[in-house]
Amino acid sequence: MPESTPKTMGQQFGRRSWAEPWKIKMVEPLAVTTREQRQKALEEAGYNTFLLRSEDVYIDLLTDSGTSAMSDRQWAGLMLGDEAYAGSRNFYRLEAAIQNIYGYKYIVPTHQGRGAEHLISQAVIKKGQIVPGNMYFTTTRLHQELAGGIFQDVIIDEAHDPANLHPFKGNVDLDKVQSIIDKYGAENIAYISVAGTVNMAGGQPISMANIKALRALCDKYGIKIYLDATRMMENAFFIQQREEGYADKTIAQIVKEFCSYTDAAWMSAKKDNLVNIGGWLAVNDWDLFEELRNLVVVYEGLHTYGGLAGRDMEAMAIGIEESVDDQHIRSRVGQVLYLGELLLSWGIPIVQPIGGHAIFLDAKAFYPHLKQVEFPAQTLAAELYLDSGIRSMERGIVSAGRDPKTGDHYYPKLELTRLTIPRRVYTQAHMDVVAEAVKAVYDARETTRGLKMVYEPKYLRFFQARFVRL
Ligand SMILES: *Cc1c(COP(=O)(O)O)cnc(C)c1O
Repeated sequence: MPESTPKTMGQQFGRRSWAEPWKIKMVEPLAVTTREQRQKALEEAGYNTFLLRSEDVYIDLLTDSGTSAMSDRQWAGLMLGDEAYAGSRNFYRLEAAIQNIYGYKYIVPTHQGRGAEHLISQAVIKKGQIVPGNMYFTTTRLHQELAGGIFQDVIIDEAHDPANLHPFKGNVDLDKVQSIIDKYGAENIAYISVAGTVNMAGGQPISMANIKALRALCDKYGIKIYLDATRMMENAFFIQQREEGYADKTIAQIVKEFCSYTDAAWMSAKKDNLVNIGGWLAVNDWDLFEELRNLVVVYEGLHTYGGLAGRDMEAMAIGIEESVDDQHIRSRVGQVLYLGELLLSWGIPIVQPIGGHAIFLDAKAFYPHLKQVEFPAQTLAAELYLDSGIRSMERGIVSAGRDPKTGDHYYPKLELTRLTIPRRVYTQAHMDVVAEAVKAVYDARETTRGLKMVYEPKYLRFFQARFVRL
């Protein structure tokens, strides 16, 4: 621990302190466990934090997906659910909110993000087509591959270097896109898959200048750009903070402009949109909309509910409006920055610049003595839980899976453990506890042993794989 007197958040960053633009109305008690209890729970869970029971977890930073606290307005909205099978009032509310905030024309609700990914992948990808993307996301790439697509990474090289300070590490490398066009021909590219903040690169944003330039390139060849809008609000915040000409624009204005350079979007509303379940597709092309509406009734539900209750759609519509509020997004990303700055001030290796939804610990730098097949990031997640009951997630070789052609592991350059901050859930004191736990695990790094995988599921193995201590 640093010896100096504790500094307020404002002093730490050389500005006046500010606090969350909400207060707490209801609390949910947390379990505090002993190290012995955690050791037992971890062994039962096969050293996989996904297999822990949430009751055994103190501070849950597994994911920011579906873990947001809803506002009193959203809870009130649940009471306004119109549970009609067809034409629910809440669908039209949701449709209007998406059209208004994101600017797309036609909306299809889905039960969550991967439902949307499934439909759009099946609708547009022809077998053997290339799907260039600014790094991959697990479920996104899998749905693209299941539809016959071949993913190709077109993110800038800086994204693969956890120490590189590029302000927009989510940017697409236009030369990489051009060489894919030259090699395969524009007709063999299904679309460009762009994520607004790149989860797997550490929550890194893509700049407005980059999406504009990508639009110009794609227009030359008639290629569509589809946006994974899951964390687009956070991306907009970074554009506002870092990109010239956007400091005086609102988050709402930035989101609208960014989306205008894309042809369609899919959404995991469990993230930015502040709900516990939900997703959507939004497109500008009528023919594509028709196809998606045909598919949604097969896989999700009628096109005016897509696997959701009316009340869920109402909560989502309200969440979308709240998520674009400048004060909300500043405090959401501000909390992530607070935790990250604290860790950096103690010399702990994390991905920089600090991203919008999570801190990514650089597990390779924690454990240089472990081989990648000894799962350094999975090991770090296990150690954190053991120390303090904090649940994090592996984002390294386990998440990357195997190459379907060779059967070998993918060996990603980044071997990260993610501390994901749920929206509006934890306080600054929780962040302090987390930082101190990371420090304790870091201090014990040299004597930490790795893991061996003893059970491996076929798909998305990180969810259910089991390990033993080496
Ligand atoms: C979570 C997520 C998805 C998938 O959404 P689900 O709601 O979990 O099905 C897709 N893309 C990104 C970037 C995500 O973070």
